[in-house]
Amino acid sequence: MDNKENIILEVKDLKLHFPIHQGFLQRVVGHVKAVDGVSFKLHDGEVLGLVGESGCGKTTVGRTILRLYDPTSGEIWYTRPNGDRVNLAAINQKQMKPLRREMRMIFQDPFSSLNPRLTVKDIIGEPLEIHGIARGKEAERRVAELMESVGLNPALMRRYPHEFSGGQRQRIGLARTLSLNPRLIVADEPVSALDVSVQAQVLNLLQELQTRLGLTLIFVAHDLSVVEHISDRIAVMYVGKIVEMAETSELLQHPLHPYTEALLSAIPPADPDIKGERIQLQGEVPSPANPPSGCIFHTRCRYAQPECSQKIPLLTEVEAGHSVACHFAKELHLKGITEYQNA
Ligand code: SF4
Repeated sequence: MDNKENIILEVKDLKLHFPIHQGFLQRVVGHVKAVDGVSFKLHDGEVLGLVGESGCGKTTVGRTILRLYDPTSGEIWYTRPNGDRVNLAAINQKQMKPLRREMRMIFQDPFSSLNPRLTVKDIIGEPLEIHGIARGKEAERRVAELMESVGLNPALMRRYPHEFSGGQRQRIGLARTLSLNPRLIVADEPVSALDVSVQAQVLNLLQELQTRLGLTLIFVAHDLSVVEHISDRIAVMYVGKIVEMAETSELLQHPLHPYTEALLSAIPPADPDIKGERIQLQGEVPSPANPPSGCIFHTRCRYAQPECSQKIPLLTEVEAGHSVACHFAKELHLKGITEYQNA
């Protein structure tokens, strides 16, 4: 699938280090390495799941790609519909503005991401006006279409966000995101603030829209069980780095990194009568201000060897389309999801 013309996004060695200031003179005494050398390619129409525990940098990667944060270093090559490639990391906010129509974000919290003083019509229609696409009746017609496409009744467009449920508010956010016909969407934990009962509905809607509109999606989540249904590929992040990346079924059935194995073991079995076997990771996630030496996972890895704390394992493609950062990836023979769920 590595067809160069098909690549919509190529991220190369992306870093975002936040300075830590201290003392009266606010000297820089260190850096929080929120994103520390992330690289991946994304194909047009592909869904990439970005997974990891809270604080691993996955949300920061998504926000940096859309230039809500300025990267410290690295490249973010985006291919426009006419084939031109633009390094988003090297342009200013003014140059970014026309590109914002093509790439949008879905936020985690549908409560705080919608302006409570605007009606749904204004919330969804605002981007159309800002970008000079439609006004007045034309904008209203487009808002009605968008509401229908996300399963909302257009007759409710003059209501305010507080008059809707959490799931409906996420649908309003989705309609706003789609209003400019974007090609690339970063969905930042789009269902984690919702009740379990409505999570599946919103996920199914997102999947249906992605397929129907041919969207390219980066789906950020802390829970592998949320991303596995929607993602073509999954990248697992730990303390600012990608530690494993593969096609979804390959990653679930043949994990090569001990951290992925632990995340897989935490997915509850579909059959409630089966208990499953869960790997309890010891200790806390290390601080990205002071990451461990050598392999960043060595402080919690049950397979760690002495050299793991000395030598940094690089993310390496060990099988076609399957990359991992572990010195012992080929020797460990880790269990896949089926084996954990039937244990
Ligand atoms: Fe564990 Fe060592 Fe592999 Fe790191 S390099 S994941 S510590 S076995």
